[in-house]
Amino acid sequence: MAQKRALLDLSKEELAELLAAWGQPRYRLNQIWRWLYVSMVSEIDQMRNLPAALRTQLGGQFVVTSVSPLRRQRSADGHTEKVLLELADGQAVETVLMDYDGRRTVCVSSQVGCALHCAFCATGLGGWNRNLSAGEIVEQVLYFARLSRGGSRTAPTERTAPTERTAPTERTAPAAPAQPITHVVYMGMGEPFLNYEAVRQSIAILNDPEGFALGVRRVTVSTAGIVPGIERLGREGLPIGLAVSLHAPTDELRNRLVPVNRKYPLAQLIAACQAYIERTHRRVTFEYALIDGVNDAPAHADALARLLGGMLCHVNLIPVNPVADLPYLPSPQERVVAFEGRLRERGINATLRVSRGADIQAGCGQLRGSPRECETLVSA
Ligand code: SAH
Repeated sequence: MAQKRALLDLSKEELAELLAAWGQPRYRLNQIWRWLYVSMVSEIDQMRNLPAALRTQLGGQFVVTSVSPLRRQRSADGHTEKVLLELADGQAVETVLMDYDGRRTVCVSSQVGCALHCAFCATGLGGWNRNLSAGEIVEQVLYFARLSRGGSRTAPTERTAPTERTAPTERTAPAAPAQPITHVVYMGMGEPFLNYEAVRQSIAILNDPEGFALGVRRVTVSTAGIVPGIERLGREGLPIGLAVSLHAPTDELRNRLVPVNRKYPLAQLIAACQAYIERTHRRVTFEYALIDGVNDAPAHADALARLLGGMLCHVNLIPVNPVADLPYLPSPQERVVAFEGRLRERGINATLRVSRGADIQAGCGQLRGSPRECETLVSA
């Protein structure tokens, strides 16, 4: 049997064209869109205000999603969850939900594996496998959105079908907020800017005001420093958050830690960030993992302050998360605090990120997407 496409992979324009080609009235587009991104159904048969013939026609070619959960884990403090999602071709990616300070942030993967081989990151260890589709990215968000609103993955049979005038969520989710996910960060497996189109389309889908309605200011794309990607995102002219995995203040050190620096050295990277700030008026975040004895000396802080001085930016410091098979250790607490203090004294906005979910290997740089390490915990 030929594989059916996932409806989540269609942009709104593509879905509109399809429905037009099938001779459907215009309003069907919004009906289906709302089922997908407001009700967040996982089966075409749940779209109960569609004529049976249209549901059959859709079902002949499409499924809602081609992704299914294999394993779900919760951190000991209960605030971080990680899910391993199986894709249609049997590959898998990991997605993390962080629930802190009134924010519910989904950290999505953009590729299966990663080609960039940053020295301290688990994802690169297995190499790059393939890009995710837009739908596979969106589905990671919907997975946690469904759980967060207290819904289930299957059809809630008691639900009333929405009409043209009644929003599905008004009837279907009485106790939970209409939009249970407040932020999305592209900080999971892979390099988003090496999968630009799918990432961009997934943001457009999530942002659509008639659907999931997540503001682009609540979206952050993190890059290891793919300069053309930063430039391209800047040209979109949208205030999407940009984070850059810096980790070193000199080319010599960064070439070793983040090897893509050889292709896009610091001068180019910082210039691209500056242009991004000018276009979007958004503060750029620089991620800096503090690694014991590698990039955490006072001289590194000074060099970093010189590099970033005067920029509308923010440095996010995080003691490196240990990764099995890699030799790097986190800087001791006093060096971390001293590093932060030194940056601040030099006028750089810096904060310490508390590492979340390291006990379930859900911390930065710990996602591998392999089903190897733990027990099954997929339960509602
Ligand atoms: N490829 C993109 C998206 C991944 S984001 C990027 O590099 O930005 C994941 C973040 O975790 C990046 O900032 C990455 O550099 C960081 N990271 C990787 N391994 C880490 C580790 N062991 N400890 C802490 N942070 C790590």
